[in-house]
Amino acid sequence: MSLIVQKFGGTSVADPERIAAVADHIARTRKQGHGVVVAVSAMGKSTDDLIRLANEVASNPGGREMDMLLTAGERISMALLSMAIIERGIPAVSFTGSQAGIVTDSAHGKAKILEIKADRLQEALDEGQVCIVAGFQGVSTGRDITTLGRGGSDTTAVALAAALRADVCEIYTDVSGVYSADPRICPRARRLTEVSFDEMLEMAATGGRVLALRSVEFARRYNVPLHVRSSFTWEPGTWVRDLGEDRNMEEAVVTGVTHDASEAKLTITDVPDRPGIAALVFRSLASAGVNVDMIVQNVSHSSLTDISFTVPSDEAAKAEAVVVDQLGTIGADGVTVDSDIARVSIIGAGMKSHPGVAATMFETLADNGLNIDMISTSTIRTSCVVRRDDVERAVRSLHTAFGLDA
Ligand code: ASP
Ligand code: MG
Repeated sequence: MSLIVQKFGGTSVADPERIAAVADHIARTRKQGHGVVVAVSAMGKSTDDLIRLANEVASNPGGREMDMLLTAGERISMALLSMAIIERGIPAVSFTGSQAGIVTDSAHGKAKILEIKADRLQEALDEGQVCIVAGFQGVSTGRDITTLGRGGSDTTAVALAAALRADVCEIYTDVSGVYSADPRICPRARRLTEVSFDEMLEMAATGGRVLALRSVEFARRYNVPLHVRSSFTWEPGTWVRDLGEDRNMEEAVVTGVTHDASEAKLTITDVPDRPGIAALVFRSLASAGVNVDMIVQNVSHSSLTDISFTVPSDEAAKAEAVVVDQLGTIGADGVTVDSDIARVSIIGAGMKSHPGVAATMFETLADNGLNIDMISTSTIRTSCVVRRDDVERAVRSLHTAFGLDA
């Protein structure tokens, strides 16, 4: 008997009709003889609604009480889904993250899973029950309820699949898989049949919205094959797995184009060029909990240099304050914040062995009159920061230039 973990996102269980359709599908999977564990998100936009409520009663809600509130969303969907499955004559039982043995650290709002004590789930599976687990939550070592960060149900699903050594983790969502670009801005985007873990990681990190980044990290670390598919059509979608050597050599060099307009760029001007300055700045930012992404520092000609870096837009004000505090110490001139930026990235495992991919990217942007602000690369990705207003055009032109158009 194989074990399948199925994850259903908020849109998949948004109302009673959707819950019925999902329950039918789970019952079907169980009747085929598979063991089934389900991770479920809160219904529709209910997490957003709860956050809105919290903001109406407190000026800066967060921490323990916020997690207590938000985990209620998944409690509702898990119980309703479990009832709907039982209604179909299939034994099912729902568990909170805590009951499912998901132990996290105590970083409220962005807790990390430390361990899964899966014995309670295993017992229920051995009894033939379908296990419905509330996504996005766990219990801290200090015995408080925690959440894993927005979109965290993906991580719950993959972590459960790893802990229970499931054969596959199916991620059901409202799109039919992973696309070569966001179909909303790139109408010629194609659904990809399969993507490697490394490519998916880069996609998730650079704006691909289908899977949460941490879930992909988990899947790669524990080698859990993911199948991203639609809970509206139930068609096969995109496999994310270790492609090893069996990747088709004919395949395109670039697999996908992503974009991300959620960051802002800070530039510290006229920074003295001596050892320890970057260390000081970025240590202060790290201590303040700012997530720095791209960093660019120029060679200096006059013993003064500029340092630019990007951070999530909602952390820009905090980052600016941290830098302003340091200006005197480091002897820099000032700091500017540019919020009208976006990043476009090309991703493909084939890049490693094909020279000139970055050059083609820059030529394509140049031919379209798009100016590049910053560049960063990894072995299988090249990213450019461009003006925010230009980013959709950048995605479409790169999609065409790398032969990805359907
Ligand atoms: N309900 C949570 C959220 O909206 C978790 C999830 O959907 O994965 O972020
Ligand atoms: Mg969600």
